[in-house]
Amino acid sequence: NAPSSGTKTKSKICVAVRKRPLGASERQRNEQDILEVENECQLTIHEPKTKVDLTKYVEKHPFIFDEVFDEYANNEDVYRRTAQPLVEHVFNKGKATCFAYGQTGSGKTFTMMGKNGQHGLYLLAAIDIFARLMPNQRVWISFYEIYGGKLFDLLNNRQKLTAREDSKSMVNIVGLSEIEVESVEALMAIIEFGNSIRATGSTGANADSSRSHAILQIAIKQDANKKAIGKFSFIDLAGSERGADTAHNNKQTRMEGADINKSLLALKECIRSLDQNHKHIPFRGSKLTEVLKDSFLGNSRTVMVANVAPGGTSCEHTLNTLRYADRVK
Ligand code: ADP
Ligand code: MG
Repeated sequence: NAPSSGTKTKSKICVAVRKRPLGASERQRNEQDILEVENECQLTIHEPKTKVDLTKYVEKHPFIFDEVFDEYANNEDVYRRTAQPLVEHVFNKGKATCFAYGQTGSGKTFTMMGKNGQHGLYLLAAIDIFARLMPNQRVWISFYEIYGGKLFDLLNNRQKLTAREDSKSMVNIVGLSEIEVESVEALMAIIEFGNSIRATGSTGANADSSRSHAILQIAIKQDANKKAIGKFSFIDLAGSERGADTAHNNKQTRMEGADINKSLLALKECIRSLDQNHKHIPFRGSKLTEVLKDSFLGNSRTVMVANVAPGGTSCEHTLNTLRYADRVK
């Protein structure tokens, strides 16, 4: 591919794969670790001994990506080689987008939110953004989710939102809360609040977090006119295996599955089109790609962290994730 103008030698798209360690219960069950990270851009999936019938799924050749992380990598390692290089870009009037992709339980939220004192990409990026902020610049955040093709504000009690296209065919989300934050701590407190709304809730109407895409946007604005000069979006995607729920016997689940399937396919198509500098990018393929349209257009850079579980019983989902990540580019 010819390098696009403005990106110099850096590609617009970076695809990374992160292998998480075997969990306690997987170790207890004596799960086999079927993922072999060979070096920082190559890994191989091995045939699980116990599931001979999965032979047909397993690729013999190694997969090659821009970045590959083994189970010893921490969130800072992942951050340094994925999202961090994009921080400078958002201070240069650019748009940056970082996706966490993978099956439920593969480590998407661990990567994005962090856990047990280990900062995630949200916070690591916020630290760098605040460190670079000029006195006349401000940070604003919004946080919402897409569930069953509908938008819900995570900073306003899951208020339902609508996306509208304006005269310049830019998509606006009507009524979306935007909150100015003055410190990394304030930003994190708000995100934690939003994330708790995402996963739990007393109404029972809340989305299972594995079935929704959570979108955090950090905008840097000029003091005087409140115009965004750059924006960093982080998307904790719905569990990729949920897209296969299209044959489920529960109608609700089936519809959600179809919607997730549609959005993940549309996302792949959009990223591919961007990478190949196509004129027409199929944003309208799903709500997810529609609302991210302005982040993809123009001076944009994208990273995808595809998370994979190493256990033999996850073989099929892991392989699906590797194939998806492979085809994004
Ligand atoms: P997802 O959001 O993809 O469904 P989670 O991020 O919730 O998955 O991860 C599932 C479980 O695995 C959690 O208990 C999480 O703490 C653990 N986990 C995920 N990635 C890692 C990692 N790199 N190191 C240690 N534990 C991890
Ligand atoms: Mg999660």
